[in-house]
Amino acid sequence: MRYALLADIHANLAAFTAVLDDIERRGGVEEFWCLGDIVGYGPDPSPCIELLRKYKHVCVAGNHDLAAIGKLALASFNPDAAFACRWTAKQLSPRDIEYLGSLPSVIEKDDFTMVHGSPREPIWEYLISKGSAKENFACFKTKFCLVGHSHVPFIFRQDEDGSCSFISLSDSIGQVLGRRRMIVNPGGVGQPRDGDPRASYAIYDSDSGVVRLYRVAYDINATQVKMVKNNLPMRLVVRLEHGL
Ligand code: ZN
Repeated sequence: MRYALLADIHANLAAFTAVLDDIERRGGVEEFWCLGDIVGYGPDPSPCIELLRKYKHVCVAGNHDLAAIGKLALASFNPDAAFACRWTAKQLSPRDIEYLGSLPSVIEKDDFTMVHGSPREPIWEYLISKGSAKENFACFKTKFCLVGHSHVPFIFRQDEDGSCSFISLSDSIGQVLGRRRMIVNPGGVGQPRDGDPRASYAIYDSDSGVVRLYRVAYDINATQVKMVKNNLPMRLVVRLEHGL
């Protein structure tokens, strides 16, 4: 079976549809595994939720998903993120709010634990260092863990001596999820932050055990124009073209 790993769509419909087209072009998948933050920052929160719901999927809650429906205080958001979140809240339909409110913070499926941030702190922790990865391996029971939140594609592997290795994921390069436990981040669909502005996602093939990252060019300008039209913060508009 093939599964699409999607994280941090962030209401970027142009990026999301480009990724969906790319998945189709590659022969499709059985199910989407979505790692949270469907909304926040971007100009199309409701259309992105509606589109995701058309597909067979599972999804965990991200910090922006919860903040947009008032389940997480905005005090911990930076001013631009908080502004975008308040704007997002006004765009959501009752059906969207009900859906976001139904998302669990942790999903366990087969060999995988799925969270937005980290298994230790599913909503908030940015899992980006070997030190935090090492501690987080103790916080989930399955062999593998899938995370989002940092918008950077990577794998942390737990080595025999208990230490952690960092493996960067690049476009079209496959990684076998083998004997060692791993924490995998497929990067961000709607707001990549690794210096590559193309949308990032991965396909996991359970038959071969390979996870493969894909980068997809999309119409960044179309998203930026909508953001400007809706008076979303310029810093959020500009960062899309830099992938930072
Ligand atoms: Zn995010």
